[in-house]
Amino acid sequence: MHHMTLAEIARGLADKKLSSVELTQTLLARIAQLDPQINSFISLTQDLALSQAKAADERRANGESGALLGAPIAHKDLFCTQGIRTSCGSKMLDNFKAPYDATVVAKLAAAGAVTLGKTNMDEFAMGSANESSWYGAVKNPWNLEHVPGGSSGGSAAAVAARLLPAATATDTGGSIRQPAAFTNLTGLKPTYGRVSRWGMIAYASSLDQGGPLARTAEDCAILLQGMAGFDPNDSTSIDEPVPDYSAGLNGSLQGLRIGVPKEYFSAGLDPRIAELIHNSIKELEKLGAVIKEISLPNMQHAIPAYYVIAPAEASSNLSRFDGVRFGYRCENPENLEDLYKRSRGEGFGSEVQRRIMVGAYALSAGYYDAYYLKAQKIRRLVKNDFMSAFNEVDIILGPTTPNPAWKLGAKSSDPVAAYLEDVYTITANLAGLPGLSMPAGFVDGLPVGVQLLAPYFQEGRLLNVAHQYQLNTDWHTRTPTGF
Ligand code: GLN
Repeated sequence: MHHMTLAEIARGLADKKLSSVELTQTLLARIAQLDPQINSFISLTQDLALSQAKAADERRANGESGALLGAPIAHKDLFCTQGIRTSCGSKMLDNFKAPYDATVVAKLAAAGAVTLGKTNMDEFAMGSANESSWYGAVKNPWNLEHVPGGSSGGSAAAVAARLLPAATATDTGGSIRQPAAFTNLTGLKPTYGRVSRWGMIAYASSLDQGGPLARTAEDCAILLQGMAGFDPNDSTSIDEPVPDYSAGLNGSLQGLRIGVPKEYFSAGLDPRIAELIHNSIKELEKLGAVIKEISLPNMQHAIPAYYVIAPAEASSNLSRFDGVRFGYRCENPENLEDLYKRSRGEGFGSEVQRRIMVGAYALSAGYYDAYYLKAQKIRRLVKNDFMSAFNEVDIILGPTTPNPAWKLGAKSSDPVAAYLEDVYTITANLAGLPGLSMPAGFVDGLPVGVQLLAPYFQEGRLLNVAHQYQLNTDWHTRTPTGF
C-alpha cells in the first residue's frame, strides 16, 4: 500500500478497494518502523490523522469525492497547525503551538487530506542540506551517509522513503526543487503569489513560496490544486483563477520551444549531470519539443544578490522572536537587554545567527546602498533576462543542482560552499517564476534532477511537460533500497 501514488490512492479510495483509515494506520506503522533511520519527522499527529481519515471515509460513504479526500500527507514544520507544535526546525519555537492553521493547512484539511505529521527542515528554512535543524540532520534514503537536500529535507526524505505519497514544502531559493532532485522526487515551486503564505512562518517574504513535493508530476498537480488560490489574508496573494492542473497533464509537446541557457553548462557543473540533462533534452525532442540555445547573462550575479536579500528580509522577520511574545525564553534574565540577548543567542542556531547578522549589516544606514539596493538592482536584471528569454521560448530547461547530494557534514564548516550549490534554483525566486524539478537519472547511485522554468502562472505547462516526460521515462519510479 505504501508504494501507491496520490493518484492511485484516489482511485483506490473511489473504487472502495481501500479505506483512508486502513491506509493511515499502515503508513503510521511504517513511519514508526523506518523513520528512526532518516529522521524526517519532527512531530507525528496520529490522533488527528486517524480522526481525519475516519471523517474522510464517512464523507466518501456519503457520496462525496475528490482526489485529496482521505489522502495522507504531511506538512513542513513551518506551516502553522492549530494546537500542534510548529517548530520551524528551531529550539526557538520548540514550545510553540500555533493558535491557528495556515491557509494551506486549512485548505488541504477542507479537501479531506489527512495530516500524518510535521516534517523536519533546516532551521527557519535556511540551508540546503537539512543539517541545521535543532532536531538533528535528515538522512537521504538513497544513501544514509548523504544529505537529502534542504531546507525541505524532511518532506523529501519521507516521500522518497515511501512513508507517505506527498508532502507540502516551501521554496525561498530552491528548498522544494533541490531536495526533490537529491531524493528522486518531483517538486514544484509555484509563481510567487500563487499559494498563500498566510500562516507560513516567514524566512524571506518576497521570495518564500509553498508548493508540493511528490513522486510524480501527476501527484504534484493534485496537491497543488489543493494548495493554490487567492487568499485575502495574504497581501501578496494574487487573484487569478486556478486552472485544473490534472486536466492539463495530457497536452501534446509538439512544437514546444525549450530554451537551454548556455551559462548552465559552465565549469561548476558535474559533467555526469550535464550528460543526464542532455539525455532528458533528447527525450523531450522525441516528444516533439524544439530546442533553442538561450542566454541568461546576469545569472552569475544571482547568488551574491540572493545572499544579501534573503538575510536582509530574514533579519527583519526574525526580530519578532525576542523571548517576550512567543517561543524560547532564557532562564533568569537580569534585565530586558539580557532577556533579548540570551533568548536569541540560545534559541537560534549558528546559521540563523549568521544570516541575521549579515542581513542587519546589509540593511544598516551606511551600507544599505552598497549592498541591499545593489542586490535589488541585480534582482531586476535577473528578471529582465528571463522576460527576454520567454519572448523566444516556452520553458527553460537545465540541471536543478550542479552536484548530487553531498556527504553529511561535508559542507557544514563552509557555508559559502553550500550557498554556491543554489546557483540554478535561486534565480526563479528572485524573479518570482514557477519552477519544477523532476528525476533525470543517477550518478553514483544518487538521484539527479532536471529543472524546468516557465513564465508566470504557467505551473500547468511545467506539470504537463513533466508528466509527458514521466510517461516516457522510468527514473521517477525507482525506489531506494531498504524502503
Ligand atoms: N539554500 C537556500 C538558503 O539557504 C534556500 C533555502 C530555501 O529555499 N528555503 O537560503
